[in-house]
Amino acid sequence: MDDVKPSVVVSGIQPSGVLHLGNYLGAIRQHIALHERFNSYFFIVNYHALTTLQDSEALRRYSVDVALDYLALGFDPDKSHLFLQSDVPAVTEMAWIFYTLTPVSQLEKGVSFKDKVAQGLSANAGLFNYPILQAADILIYGGDLVPVGADQKQNIEICRDLAQRFNERFGNGNVILPVPEPYILDEVAVVPGVDGRKMSKSYGNTIGIFDEGKELKRKVMSIVTDSTPLEEPKDPDTCNVFALIRLFADADTRERVADAYRAGGYGYGHAKKELLSLITDRFAEARERRKDLATCPDDVMDVLKEGGKAGREAAARVMASVREAAGLITTY
Ligand code: ADP
Repeated sequence: MDDVKPSVVVSGIQPSGVLHLGNYLGAIRQHIALHERFNSYFFIVNYHALTTLQDSEALRRYSVDVALDYLALGFDPDKSHLFLQSDVPAVTEMAWIFYTLTPVSQLEKGVSFKDKVAQGLSANAGLFNYPILQAADILIYGGDLVPVGADQKQNIEICRDLAQRFNERFGNGNVILPVPEPYILDEVAVVPGVDGRKMSKSYGNTIGIFDEGKELKRKVMSIVTDSTPLEEPKDPDTCNVFALIRLFADADTRERVADAYRAGGYGYGHAKKELLSLITDRFAEARERRKDLATCPDDVMDVLKEGGKAGREAAARVMASVREAAGLITTY
């Protein structure tokens, strides 16, 4: 990262469920680190979430939850901007302009769209056009660095194509929309869920970042293991519990637990207790901060409000040149 000097980092977070340990290790932790160093626009993509979550009460709750989660995990609103996607409605205008520049055939190749449909989600037009709104989200703030997981590479390609196409068609030799670079986040081994598959909201196998007490214990204790008896040696490298311990423990603890697995006389119940205390300790401070923040909902709304204002200002500057370049007359 030290060799890259971006001016604007952008990233969207879906408020389509409770954020989990996979989200934390694969994305949030790195977002928090980036926002300290670069001017960042992080937005809670509630328009995107509508493609799969059509329950107003849940959408509202998850949207506020994401804000609480980020603030509790260390997002500092004095350093960067955190806001709701829908507080910058101009992104939908930008998206419309981009629809007109996107061949349907390019969207039909969308891996993420095909995956979601294969999982049984309805193929609504919003889901189909998801990458276009994502491109608008990135380009409207002049984002030049986009931290994403490797699975998002294709969508960033669509975004880069759109910026280039717009510049070619409307730029008259000028770059109206800088072409952003993906910044592929440090590859964290896929975090397994309690059933051993990739931890994901869509599989219902998650452990929430802020789960605690009985709920956290119930989930950790439900992690699937094989039935090797307590006294026998076990292989840490094939165990779902150890896969999570590895991600949360320091080197000494990792080694101690791995040795205990191999030696025998150490059961999966012991390992689960170890994991439970690692997760509890890791998020202890954030959990307290989150509880405090939850008692001041107005303060959280103020953060989002301020962030939205910054987002609208940045978006208005880019939209003015986009409208002008595309020949959209503005009379107000
Ligand atoms: P979900 O699969 O729960 O719907 P998202 O697709 O919203 O999660 O994930 C948001 C980001 O969190 C992803 O881009 C990815 O970087 C990260 N992420 C999600 N699940 C995992 C996981 N199991 N392991 C590692 N990273 C993950």
